[in-house]
Amino acid sequence: MRKGRIFEIREFTLHDGPGVRTTVFFKGCPLRCAWCHNPEGQSSELETMVRTNGEKIVCGRDWTARDLADELLRNADIMAQSGGGVTFSGGEPLAQAQFLLELIPLLKERGVHLTIETSGYAPLETYRSVVSKIDFVYQDVKCLDPDAFRRWTGGEPDVVQANIAWLRGSGVPFVFRVPCIPGVNDSAADREAFAAFAEDAKVEFLPYNTAAGAKYPLLGRAYPMDGIVP
Ligand code: SF4
Repeated sequence: MRKGRIFEIREFTLHDGPGVRTTVFFKGCPLRCAWCHNPEGQSSELETMVRTNGEKIVCGRDWTARDLADELLRNADIMAQSGGGVTFSGGEPLAQAQFLLELIPLLKERGVHLTIETSGYAPLETYRSVVSKIDFVYQDVKCLDPDAFRRWTGGEPDVVQANIAWLRGSGVPFVFRVPCIPGVNDSAADREAFAAFAEDAKVEFLPYNTAAGAKYPLLGRAYPMDGIVP
């Protein structure tokens, strides 16, 4: 049976969609955003994080869809009472699309509201197959300039743009989310451009996470934005 690799399950989250939610962090992401604040979510491999007190933590655990659904459904009543549900985050959840397609019906048969936070960096067919089964989408928009997108994320902008074009006409409720990065995409002109890009859709501007670099040394890595952001 296929397994999904998850690096964190965070219960009772309040900012990843409506109501009280459980957020599931999928391990593995095809992008390498320089400001990523979950670097342990980038590689699909198991990794060891060494805390400053010397404690070692293995990042990543493999789940069957049934076991993960049962774990998430422990809070089904609390979620339902608060109008909450489950949020798929990461890493990039769509990098484990086949696993998600096994997990989603197990949650949906219990009426769980599902949200996804995605970079949109996946083939259109993959994106469509998962997102069409989701109740609400937080769709990242990082850089509108194609060269800036390549430079700061390592990806090709057309991949995301194709998915956004589909999302706009899909009928699936969504908002755009912009991580505001000093010196990269946070000027007044950038904000205007993002608002224009969104057209009628809502845009949430997320403030730069000043603790974004904290986990890199614990993984033996340098934070790519060191010396670039204050
Ligand atoms: S898309 Fe998200 S998880 Fe992937 S590298 Fe960028 S910020 Fe990190």
